[in-house]
Amino acid sequence: MSSSSRAKTILFWISIAFVGLMLWKLVSASGQSVREEEPSYSEFVARVDAGQVKEVTMYLSQNSYELQGEYVTPANRRFRITIFKEAAPDLTKALRDKAVKISVRDLRTGDWTLTLITVAPLVLLFGFCLFLMRQMQSRGVQPLKTRQGDVRFGLGYDLHRLDAGRPFVVGGVEIPFDKGPVGHSDGDVLVHAICDAVLGAAGAGDIGTLFPDTDPQWKGVSSLIFLEQLGKVLQDQKQSIGYIDAVVIAEKPKLGPHFAAMKATLAKSLKIKPEQISLKAKTNEGVDAVGRGEAIAAHAIATLANS
Ligand code: MG
Repeated sequence: MSSSSRAKTILFWISIAFVGLMLWKLVSASGQSVREEEPSYSEFVARVDAGQVKEVTMYLSQNSYELQGEYVTPANRRFRITIFKEAAPDLTKALRDKAVKISVRDLRTGDWTLTLITVAPLVLLFGFCLFLMRQMQSRGVQPLKTRQGDVRFGLGYDLHRLDAGRPFVVGGVEIPFDKGPVGHSDGDVLVHAICDAVLGAAGAGDIGTLFPDTDPQWKGVSSLIFLEQLGKVLQDQKQSIGYIDAVVIAEKPKLGPHFAAMKATLAKSLKIKPEQISLKAKTNEGVDAVGRGEAIAAHAIATLANS
């Protein structure tokens, strides 16, 4: 857990403690069956003159005083009244004349419960915001920052020249066509781009380094072998494939009808689910070698996560 997450957790539990404390104060106050009223100034003075006030606590602030206390009659009846600072001397004299017990406290430091009640709404609001953030995180709506260290991205690209008489293999699937990619292996551009994307995310080099086209053991093989070899690389890195998105660029033939078969084939070699692969097809609008049907190309992006 990061220090910022730890701080959020601590603040969250502090706000919960505040809620508990306020509820406890509420319950204990209602348990004593003490009723509280807020008389007007004149009503209060009349009560003082009638000798009905038992005790008073004065909470001092800069411009006004808050008086809290209890009546003699009716029993168990408390009061709360705010008066201007200027009215305090006369009222204090009247209270003293009636031998009312008076306590004086500073509102800011005199009573911790008052301070608590003043600050609690702000703390509660802050805690509630943190609670919402935690809920969002647990539902996967996480800020990118928290995922940065966990997910790695890799980019792959490949292009092969097309020649007559070669099998047209893309994504491990052979599609009937009059040309096919030229390569040391079967020249499967989609597999090669995916392989480079995964190796890039793993920081493990590229397809040319791991499976050099000068090595006779790879001559004429299905490129799916390269994908199968990636399992050990990922295992060593304690990584697993999260998602692969790829686009194949070819003027002809139509590739879309073969995507389901390609995904199933690629997923089997990568030991992932077909749903973890996205495939798209583009033409090059007749431009350059790909557009003239002389080549085929592919781009791929792969994400890896800690396994
Ligand atoms: Mg290649």
